[in-house]
Amino acid sequence: MTDTRYIFVTGGVVSSLGKGIVAASLGKLLQARGYKVTIQKFDPYINIDPGTLNPYEHGECYVTEDGHEADLDLGHYERFLNIRTSRENNITTGRIYQSVINKERHGDYLGKTVQVIPHITDEIKRSVRRLGMKHHYDFVITEIGGVVGDIESLPFLESVRQLKWELKNHCVCVHLTYVPFIAAAKEYKTKPTQHSVKQLQEEGIQPDILVLRTEHKLSEELLDKVALFCNVSKESVFQSIDMPSIYEIPLLLQEQGLDRQVIQQAGLEVGETPKMEGWRNFVHRMKSATKELHIALVGKYVELQDAYKSIDEALLQSCVYHDRKLKLTSIHSESITKDNVDKLLSGYDGVVVAPGFGSRGVEGKLIALEYTRTHQIPTLGICLGMQCMAIEFAQNVLGLEDCNTTEIKPTAANKIIDLMDEQKAISDLGASMRLGAYECELKEGSKLAAAYGKLLISERHRHRYEFNSQYRAAFEEAGFKCVGTNPETGLVEALELEGHPWYIGVQYHPEYSSTVLQPSPIFMAFISAISNR
Ligand code: GLN
Repeated sequence: MTDTRYIFVTGGVVSSLGKGIVAASLGKLLQARGYKVTIQKFDPYINIDPGTLNPYEHGECYVTEDGHEADLDLGHYERFLNIRTSRENNITTGRIYQSVINKERHGDYLGKTVQVIPHITDEIKRSVRRLGMKHHYDFVITEIGGVVGDIESLPFLESVRQLKWELKNHCVCVHLTYVPFIAAAKEYKTKPTQHSVKQLQEEGIQPDILVLRTEHKLSEELLDKVALFCNVSKESVFQSIDMPSIYEIPLLLQEQGLDRQVIQQAGLEVGETPKMEGWRNFVHRMKSATKELHIALVGKYVELQDAYKSIDEALLQSCVYHDRKLKLTSIHSESITKDNVDKLLSGYDGVVVAPGFGSRGVEGKLIALEYTRTHQIPTLGICLGMQCMAIEFAQNVLGLEDCNTTEIKPTAANKIIDLMDEQKAISDLGASMRLGAYECELKEGSKLAAAYGKLLISERHRHRYEFNSQYRAAFEEAGFKCVGTNPETGLVEALELEGHPWYIGVQYHPEYSSTVLQPSPIFMAFISAISNR
């Protein structure tokens, strides 16, 4: 047995209860006590990774430094814990099966019938333990996606059941459920929680700790009742009350002693409760900021709450460190026309043009960018946002005809954005983009270099197309400077417009590496430029 402790977080009743946030909060609290912690997410769907999923299915696709297209919960884990995750932190049913099938083809099972039990479950268990052992973590928290009772989750739950048996008190199961308020009866109802725990018990798992998601504070009697009917001690029942901000949840759970209880159950010594000064200070500044900053996010998935999660959080974090209250409005790029752009964008302090794929909404992004460029509105373009900045500039400033990205118009006369050479032979869509962290050399004296405080940075990417270097000289001459390039390939990664208060486009995704305690330098510079105006 290793010394690593394994915590499993399951969910019951309904999805979207914030399992990822509870896992991240618990991770934060344990980390604050000096433990080395990581968090892993199992997703029960069959896709190998969420890279091929459209945001309507699964919200934002997050990217790890090692180039894995991952579930957005990994973003929460990194933002809360200020750690880096990797492809080992996000595993889907598809990946488990792929690995088992590859082994079968290789003859590794020596003629045995390959089955869900034990082969799939063994593969799942290996993925959990490997993470703990390889990196010597004190705690590995594993969040099981989906809801107890889903057919897809069964092999994962069976693996948890076996691990719980094998790991004894080196394993703690936390189950998150929902306690709805029935307005007509003016009562909170615990029955769904009881049913969900029963269902978990049917799979052979007795939860050690329950976290009840609730709109308002629950009474002691109700918590007593849940404890009694669900076979857990009263000290092991916690509540996750709706909060104005997710960043308040760790403090809420610490107040109730969730981390103490987990540590005790994991057979470790419970020390002093950490003060969490940096975190508390962040939450305090977030809640006390009154001066508003109005920022528009121009993208095509505005109706989806999670489509631009990391950008939303990076903006918020930087606003907090400038004692500003973020007022973020999403504007659908498809709705922007030459006639309404003034009405839509004139009131904003700053504009972010979002990443994306395909032609839908690009026209509106170009119109928005022409407006912010000519109206001196601070603007940050990310990935497709930066590519649109380049196309708009080529069209309207350089006066070139028929400018486009070959993603949208392969026959364009001026291919300002073109497919990367390395992409030309690729036909599969899965995990085949330029993914993960790459170095970028910044130009001395640029705003970006000042923002990062150094000349060699590393940021994460997710794209197939790039700025076409043929146009570099013309851009530079007209004042749109290529201030960031990849040292190995010379690819242009960043553009910065001279004579504008702040107009910067980056091919990379700075939002992925912005955390609560270490906000992204470029978002900080953007917010600083806006708030000093
Ligand atoms: N679709 C563009 C590309 O593949 C931009 C991708 C993005 O915005 N993440 O290059």
